[in-house]
Amino acid sequence: MHKEPIIGIDLGTTNSCAAIVEESGNVKLIPYKGGEYTIPSIFAIDDKGNELIGFEAKRQWQLNPRNTVYGAKRLVGVNYSSDVVGTMKKAVAYNMRAGAKNDVTLDVGKKEFTLQEISAKILGKIRDVAANYLKTPIKRAVVTVPAYFNDRQRQSVKDAGKLIDLEVVRIINEPTAAALAYGVGKTLKEKVVIYDLGGGTFDVSIIEIRDRVFEVKSTGGDVFLGGIDFDNAIIHHVLKDFAAKTGIDLATDPVAMQRIKDLAERTKIDLSAREEVPFNIPFITMTAQGQPLNIEMKFTRKMLEQLTNQLVDRTLQMVARVLVDSGLSTKDIDEVMLVGGQTRMPVVQDRLTKFFGKPPSKGVHPDEAVAIGAALYAHSLEDNSNLRIQLLDVIPMAIGLERGDGGFHVVFPRNASIPNAKQLLATTSIDNQTELAMRIYQGDHDTVARNDMLGEFTFSGIVPAKAGTVNVEIIFDVSVEGILTMRAKDPATGREMKTTVRVTQS
Ligand code: AMP
Repeated sequence: MHKEPIIGIDLGTTNSCAAIVEESGNVKLIPYKGGEYTIPSIFAIDDKGNELIGFEAKRQWQLNPRNTVYGAKRLVGVNYSSDVVGTMKKAVAYNMRAGAKNDVTLDVGKKEFTLQEISAKILGKIRDVAANYLKTPIKRAVVTVPAYFNDRQRQSVKDAGKLIDLEVVRIINEPTAAALAYGVGKTLKEKVVIYDLGGGTFDVSIIEIRDRVFEVKSTGGDVFLGGIDFDNAIIHHVLKDFAAKTGIDLATDPVAMQRIKDLAERTKIDLSAREEVPFNIPFITMTAQGQPLNIEMKFTRKMLEQLTNQLVDRTLQMVARVLVDSGLSTKDIDEVMLVGGQTRMPVVQDRLTKFFGKPPSKGVHPDEAVAIGAALYAHSLEDNSNLRIQLLDVIPMAIGLERGDGGFHVVFPRNASIPNAKQLLATTSIDNQTELAMRIYQGDHDTVARNDMLGEFTFSGIVPAKAGTVNVEIIFDVSVEGILTMRAKDPATGREMKTTVRVTQS
């Protein structure tokens, strides 16, 4: 029996947040020093070698951009060779390179870090803040991830917990957590859409709530679409305008870029409340003759909407796909719930209102719902809890095997319910073969090359025999958390074969 509480953690791209169900049964967000409920998901090392996490890291990032890591959630569980890395390299000042397993390694303050280590630093900070506030050690947590995270990305978050001795007792999807925050304790019978546009990721899920049962009908998203991309649209516009006026490319100056980035985000946020805001940065750089140059511009809400129109379009295309996948139409949806800071942009709300024929609900707090839902679920897992919640979730992308011709043999289709298990009968293709290797991929494309490789599974201990005469039964298990494990058996004897997994990408 565990005495310590399990907390809920929303490990966000830009901000993270933790919550707990108190003994009274109330859910409480855990406040940080100044009373803030969110902590920036930023890690830095200063010039004296001190590690800074959260606000301390954010405060100094303009002056120390190369050793300040933000937005790292986008790189979690990603291969170095993936397109994501190239895009990130253009957007951030910290250095990334290929790690031992072709994962991404970051150089910060002359040390190297894996993405698990960076996530662990942020999780550790949240854990320490919570332990300090609650005056009890925190050893276990429910951590949320974007619904569109694949198996590797989920595994990576669990591994991050291990590094700091924090048991991630359950990974749940962010939209599902938001639905819990909305629905627990209300005896609802509703179909809801959770539209979650955060700092770095977009998720949309259709969830049927029947009292304590939360059944995800379909989910979709983009782990590369979020508030940061709206900021980048402003940044690109500013850089283009400045280059046209002065012939100077500010993109190569990290300190200037950091100042532009900061103001871009503030401008975007201000434009949610105002029609027009100035965009002025004094002494951004100098001419070759040493003359100081300023940025002097203004942005209107209309301009921002034009610059980001296709980003909003992409989210709505995904909403349409998820609706089709669920077999429902807009009329069947009782509520549309907004989650994530970027949903405060008025045009996002207007477009959703047009799409569904009714305005989105204000039923949950966009910044807090995910942590609250995680805390409720965490509480339901505690030994002494009488809160019963049943989560029926789905996998966001198909999981399957590489075929001989490079095609993708789907084992679990997209939106397959989890937990789930499937069996497949394989056989040997050469005489006296004692090992069978399979490459497993996740994604929605027909060819494996365009999907993400989850690992190469090798089953050994096959009894030597003529090709095609021995059967091997492969068992695929996807856990409630969307994490895949595989086993193989000899169906004749029932004997399990040894399985090794390699997650490096060739
Ligand atoms: P989250 O990951 O949910 O904390 O979302 C943070 C994102 O929401 C960041 O990209 C913020 O810039 C953005 N954001 C926060 N407030 C607003 C606002 N009022 N209008 C537009 N975007 C916002």
